[in-house]
Amino acid sequence: MRAIVKTAPGEGHIELRDWPEPTRRWGEVKIRVAAVGICGTDIHILHGTWRCDPPVVLGHEWCGTVVETGPGATHLKPGDRVVASNPAITCGRCFHCLAGNDFMCADRVSAGYMIDGALAEFICIDAKRCHHLPDHVTFQQACIGEPLSVAVHAVIERTMVHSGDLVLVSGPGSVGLLTMQVARLEGARVVVAGLARDAARLQCARRLGAEVVVNVEEQDLLEVVRDLSGGRGVDLVYECAGSEDSLAGCWEAVRGEGTLCVLGVHPGPIRTDFNKIMMKELRVIGSYGYIWSTWQRTVQLLSERKIDADQMISHIFPMEEYEAAFRVTQNGSGIKVVLNPGLLQATTRA
Ligand SMILES: [Zn+2]
Ligand SMILES: [Zn+2]
Repeated sequence: MRAIVKTAPGEGHIELRDWPEPTRRWGEVKIRVAAVGICGTDIHILHGTWRCDPPVVLGHEWCGTVVETGPGATHLKPGDRVVASNPAITCGRCFHCLAGNDFMCADRVSAGYMIDGALAEFICIDAKRCHHLPDHVTFQQACIGEPLSVAVHAVIERTMVHSGDLVLVSGPGSVGLLTMQVARLEGARVVVAGLARDAARLQCARRLGAEVVVNVEEQDLLEVVRDLSGGRGVDLVYECAGSEDSLAGCWEAVRGEGTLCVLGVHPGPIRTDFNKIMMKELRVIGSYGYIWSTWQRTVQLLSERKIDADQMISHIFPMEEYEAAFRVTQNGSGIKVVLNPGLLQATTRA
């Protein structure tokens, strides 16, 4: 089969090549992959700045059609359309696995960089990680399920937004834009902050209902936040950019006794003003991945069209054009970029 493979460590080394078709093990289903979203993590992998065990097939935001079931995977049948969480392997025995939060498993091996992912014609995955897709949810919409689950976990399961809250989302990538949408569903007014290079993403944030968008290279974020909050600062901040400068802005923007939730992946240790936590009596909460039940909400939100996935999909490319897909993801001109392991023609939405 054809697959997009990171062939060696370091900068670059990504190729479309022939790759052995996976075979189903006990408890797994085999799926023909229909659509795969390109993630910020994939850009880190492109540059060799994310843990990766090459040679390995990339891709962890995906959906498709079941083609084969068998022992241990009898609740799905060929033809079922499914979306699935990251097809990781976890130990199944530790405290976190047994408590239902296997993202915390110390022995977790994640697909798309440690074991083969979904940027291929087929993937085999533990049937328990699959969630049925309603017929009216398209595959393009469904491949937003993974980052949407990250946002749902942060906003609904890790923090609590109250109706009328003023929320700041710093970093308008897909997780940021989805975090904004979920926070709005919970009743918040949302400010979205980004850089000049995020112009297309900030425009998208506005279309999706952000109260205000701020290009922090041209506008004073603190002034905007003070104006909107009667001088107090925002009730909750979601740091989705994973940069030192973004985090510095978040400490300033959040009000005393407010909450700062960190979802962004930082490239390594950073310097930051930790005193703010004590002096402002902040709640600082990390949010990483999701749990099984997060996906039930995610599929429900997609099914009810409460999340606008279509607005977020800026480009769809066939597998052959993976280099262009990485390029528009990296330079910020794409919002969510989808690769289609089927043979759809490339299309671009404005
Ligand atoms: Zn991702
Ligand atoms: Zn475990």
